[in-house]
Amino acid sequence: MDQKSSKNNSEVENEYSVIIKNLSVTYRTEPALWNIDLNFPKGKMIAIVGPNGAGKSTLVKAVMGLVPITAGKVSIFGKPYSKNRDKVAYVPQRGSVDWDFPTDALDVVEMGLYGKLGWFRRPNSKTRDLARECLDKVGLSNYADRQIGQLSGGQQQRVFLARALAQDAQIYLMDEPLNGVDVITEKTILSILENLKKEGKTIVMVHHELQTVDKYFDWVVMVNRNLIANGPIKEVFTKINLDRTYQEKQRISIQ
Ligand code: ADP
Ligand code: MG
Repeated sequence: MDQKSSKNNSEVENEYSVIIKNLSVTYRTEPALWNIDLNFPKGKMIAIVGPNGAGKSTLVKAVMGLVPITAGKVSIFGKPYSKNRDKVAYVPQRGSVDWDFPTDALDVVEMGLYGKLGWFRRPNSKTRDLARECLDKVGLSNYADRQIGQLSGGQQQRVFLARALAQDAQIYLMDEPLNGVDVITEKTILSILENLKKEGKTIVMVHHELQTVDKYFDWVVMVNRNLIANGPIKEVFTKINLDRTYQEKQRISIQ
């Protein structure tokens, strides 16, 4: 399973930004993820695919310690997440966020800078300008003072991407950002991520649409509670692995 075992630790750390070892997550009694061994390479667009309830969101959250890890270890550039927080940007799954909170688009983007500033430092005209620049990059400069809850789903996703850009992270974890968005949003998000990838950043995206996996991504992680496959699209995105990924779910749901 561990095809990289011939490499020493520093070689692995040069190639991969996130290293996940023997990760298990159990919310109640049933494990949502079981014994996952997985590394995320730098400079790649990585899709996480699997059926509903497979543990995709859990996997992304576990990288940041947002869910209790039952066993195993995650390291970000060789350190625990707590030591490398500002290197990781996260765009949560839509629907998991309360959009009613009274804040405008520019504020949401500016929040991406807090990690860098430290919580004790106040936003100022410089941080405002940077936040505006990032909103502009996602094509939303005219929506800066719009309440976040009043934006369309696609616009909300773009605001969250702008926040991630403001953070200037090395690793971008996005949970189904393309789900149900308009064409402009999809194009904007993909072209921004493509540029980040060229800069050597790690892009990890939970993706629901199997037809576009080989078009948009270089690398795929196929998960269904267990890790089914992980690697370059050409090598692992095969019918056999797809069957294994999606059949397993049926077996679990019948139980
Ligand atoms: P996916 O994103 O692949 O649809 P999730 O990671 O959201 O899957 O969920 C994996 C499993 O864990 C599901 O069975 C889900 O019901 C369960 N689960 C997710 N979050 C929680 C939680 N906060 N408390 C209890 N169970 C949860
Ligand atoms: Mg999910």
